[in-house]
Formats: sequence, structure tokens, C-alpha cells
Amino acid sequence: MSKKIQNKTNIYSFFNCIEKNFDKATRFIPIEKGLLEQIKECNSVYRMNFPVKIGKQIKVIEAYRVQHSHHKLPCKGGIRYSMKVTQDEIMTLSALMTYKCAIADVPFGGAKGGIKIDPQTMSEENIEKITRRYTSELIKKNFIGPGIDVPAPDYGTGEREMSWIFDTFLSLRPSDVDALACVTGKPVSQGGLRGRKEATGLGVFYGIRELCKMKEEMDSIGLEVGIIGKKVIIQGLGNVGYHTANFFYEAGAIIVALAEREGAIYNKNGLDVSQVILHLKNTGSILNFPKAKNIKNTESALELECDILIPAALENVIHINNANRIKAKIIGEAANGPITPEADEILEKKGIIIVPDIYLNAGGVTVSYFEWLKNLSHVRYGRMEKRFNENMNARLLQVVETICNKKISKKEKKIILRGAREIDLVRSGLEDTMINGFHKIINLKKSSNIENMRTAAFLLAINKIIDSYEKLGIFP
Ligand code: GLU
Repeated sequence: MSKKIQNKTNIYSFFNCIEKNFDKATRFIPIEKGLLEQIKECNSVYRMNFPVKIGKQIKVIEAYRVQHSHHKLPCKGGIRYSMKVTQDEIMTLSALMTYKCAIADVPFGGAKGGIKIDPQTMSEENIEKITRRYTSELIKKNFIGPGIDVPAPDYGTGEREMSWIFDTFLSLRPSDVDALACVTGKPVSQGGLRGRKEATGLGVFYGIRELCKMKEEMDSIGLEVGIIGKKVIIQGLGNVGYHTANFFYEAGAIIVALAEREGAIYNKNGLDVSQVILHLKNTGSILNFPKAKNIKNTESALELECDILIPAALENVIHINNANRIKAKIIGEAANGPITPEADEILEKKGIIIVPDIYLNAGGVTVSYFEWLKNLSHVRYGRMEKRFNENMNARLLQVVETICNKKISKKEKKIILRGAREIDLVRSGLEDTMINGFHKIINLKKSSNIENMRTAAFLLAINKIIDSYEKLGIFP
């Protein structure tokens, strides 16, 4: 498929990297090569150029939507705004979405979109114009819809962009009763779901927490069981990195360094994440945070002493030239594709445990699935059963109090009586998905004697996709 691209840090195109990981896993699958090729390739690639008037000038905007797999519909995946957007990048990210959805057990094919702009240098008005035009381009070619392809936030986009997408879709498809389900990651006031915003970060936390519970794995890298006291570095303080940092901090980990585009900050005794965010809001930069050391070269923050390193921004940040200097014992891939295949091999030889992106950052799409279901069912989670459960709990408590002849304290009553709210159900669904996914990967790794979690995760995903193709009767 894509040709090898030569540059100083990476001898493969991004798509080649994923192909390499795919091929490592398919050694374990005795199935016809052509069928695997079908799974590997991108089904539809839509590249568009459209004009937008910016100030007095007309600018031609380059954008993409790639649907990697139609084995399950709709296709699902975010839309990113970045000057680094290329066809190769979006194709790769769409492929990762397919495997991610299979591992998280959400019934979607993978997709991804991208617009080549730098939102940080643009006015809100222009970003809105571009977003709305991009959406109408997707509608024209039938590349968006609740049963076709459902975008979501990604690098450089958020709730605001998703609400513009929804609004544009609704204005062109006013009679579609399910229009709300055409995009996820919307604001709660516009059909969004409580818990979606922090879902990827929380999923990352759940995944690493699960690994840290495993005595055998922790012994192999010389760490204690548990999250408390673990030294963590997080690269990228966007939506994913910020929430990841917060969940680790709240659980008692020590956030020794945080890295952003402009540089990194370090304190071996730990940084207070909410204070850093406040400082960032006030000064526009994380640098010069009180009692922390500034690190001008943001990349070198990845090489600092720590237990857990979490790249949470863009791809290929750990490559052949810096892999040898990484000191972390665990790397959690909150970003998509942060490690090149060459770096992967170096890190594996060093005995570092890598928790792969296609599993670890699946929390976002998992909760997107819950949002999509809520939109299609037209009812808020918990609406039907909350009051009923509260009444049942109250009766049960009365019986317990009578039988035991003991009054339960007001504080305890409050906890026991409360019926599940939407956020409780979303978080418990996410936790369950992340825990199940982790154990499926680890069990497969052990039972098939696979060298690392990434290959096991790919094998798990590919097997599931083959399964659905067989059920569809496409692969006889
Ligand atoms: N952009 C996120 C990802 O890469 C979320 C995708 C979604 O929710 O559809 O997983």
C-alpha cells in the first residue's frame, strides 16, 4: 500500500507503521492472505478541497474523511484540526479506530476526519465557517449520518465543533428524527452525554490502574502493585492529557512532569494538576509554574526518570532517536500512534511495558457509543429506573433496620438510597469496558505466548473483525 517515506526519525509512513503491527499479529492467524488484506485496507477515502472566505481573501481548505472499515456500521471516529493533517495520517488513524472499536466491543467500523488548519491562529468565526462547510461536503457525499458515519472530537476539536456539525446536519436533514446521533461529543445541552468529555482520560487511568494491579507484571519491572506513589509524566495537556493527569493525581500518583508545546515543567515531589491548569489559564503557558523547573525542550521531558510515561498528544513522539533514552517502566499510549515501530522494538528490548493505543485510549469511543445510543433512544440514561431504584432501596433499608433493630446513619442512608444518575451509569460502563478489554488482551498474550500487549491487542481485534465478516457471510 503506502510507500516507505524516508525522514530522519521515521523510515515508515504512518500507515506502514500500523501495517507492521498488523502483520506481526496475523502471524498467529491461519487465514487466507486476501482476507487479511481486505481488513487492512481503507474502504473509502474522501479528500476534499473547498473554498472559504477568510477576511477579504478566498482560502482553499484541504480536508479528509476516511472510512477504514464497513464491517460494522456506522463508521466512527474523530475529526482533527491540525496543520500536520495528511491523507496518510487520517488513513492510519481511521484504521486504528477499527481495531479500537473491536477491542472496546462497540459495534462500529473505524473512520477519521481531518482539516488542515491551525485553529489556534484562527478566529472562532472562521473555524465555524470551515466546520460548517466541511459538514455540508460530508453530507453531499453521504459521508455522515447516524447510520453511516458518526464523527467526534479529536486533536484540535471539541464540543463546540461537534455542536456546529450537528446544527449543520440538522438544517440540511430536518426530518431526520435521529439527527442528534449524527455526531458525538456534543455539549450536554445539545444531546451530549455527561462523562463524554473526560472519558478518554478516565479510560487511560482505568487501563493503567488495571495493569498496576497485576503482581506478576509489576514484579517484572520492579514496581510495587498499585497507583499510589507512582511517578508519572504526561506529555500533552489537551482534553485527553489534562483529564488523564487529573485522574492519576486524584488517585495518589505523583505527577513529576507535564509537557506542552512550549516546554515542560518538572518537580520530583509532584505537581498539583489543577494549580498548573490555573497557571496555564492565567499566563497562557505552563512554564514558570511556582517551585517547578522549566524544561525548554519539550521532547526531553519524555526522557526524565519516572514509572509511567503517558504521551497524550500527537503521533511518533517516541522514535528511533530518543527511544534508548526513555527511562519509564510503563508507557501508556493515550495518544494515537505515539511510538514508531523501530522505537517499539528498542523499548521492548529494554523491558518497558507498553499499553497500546488501540486499547488504552478507547474510552472516548466507548462513551461516544453510549451517547449515540442515548440519542437514538431519545431518553436520558437512568430516567426510567432512578426513582424506582431509590424507592426499592428505601424499602429494603426499612426491612434491614427492622430485622436488625438498628438505625442506619443519615450519611450511610444517603449513599445507599441514591439511584444511579447518567454519569454513574456512563462511568460504570466505561470502567467495565476498560477492565474487560485489559484482561482479554493479557489472557490472549499469555495463552498464545505473545511477546507484547500491542501484538495481543491487534490479534484480539483482527479475530473479532474476521468473526463479524464471517457472520455477514462475506468471507465464506
Ligand atoms: N477521537 C477519539 C479517538 O481517537 C474519539 C472517537 C469517537 O468518539 O468516535 O478515539
